[in-house]
Amino acid sequence: MTLKLILTGANMSDCIFCKIVEGEIPSDKIYEDETFLAFLDIHPVNPGHTLVIPKKHYPDILDAPAPVLCDLLQVVKKVAAAVQKGTEVQGFNLGVNNGRVAGQIVPHLHFHIMPRREGDGYKLWQGRPYQAGEAADISEKIRKAI
Ligand code: 5GP
Ligand code: ZN
Repeated sequence: MTLKLILTGANMSDCIFCKIVEGEIPSDKIYEDETFLAFLDIHPVNPGHTLVIPKKHYPDILDAPAPVLCDLLQVVKKVAAAVQKGTEVQGFNLGVNNGRVAGQIVPHLHFHIMPRREGDGYKLWQGRPYQAGEAADISEKIRKAI
């Protein structure tokens, strides 16, 4: 726990998104309140791709307290509705990359809101069927971990 706090503290001083919150790095702000900030992703999937973050530094979704996540999701919903309306699209993907192995590059909790257009060429990830017994085995492991 102590080690984690020390590491988290060390990360905050280097954190790009903390610097955006502090105004040390410029951003195209979409929404701001006391606790949350939404701004354009610098490298968008489609124009209007927006990131929503808590201003406080939490490395990922598992580190953030449940009440923060509940409030964050309300902001995500509000901003997502505006992204959809403002970019005149019919849908969007919400994304949270959690952990480096899942593609998280910036270790400050954030939701991606990615507007989607018909024929924009993006595909969702590929699934595959379970082998015999695999679903029972993995579901049992996950249930035990709850
Ligand atoms: P991740 O892969 O961590 O889920 O996504 C991080 C996102 O942050 C990426 O989509 C990337 O384009 C965006 N990003 C990285 N650095 C900056 C920056 O300095 N400003 C803004 N606005 N977005 C950034
Ligand atoms: Zn941060």
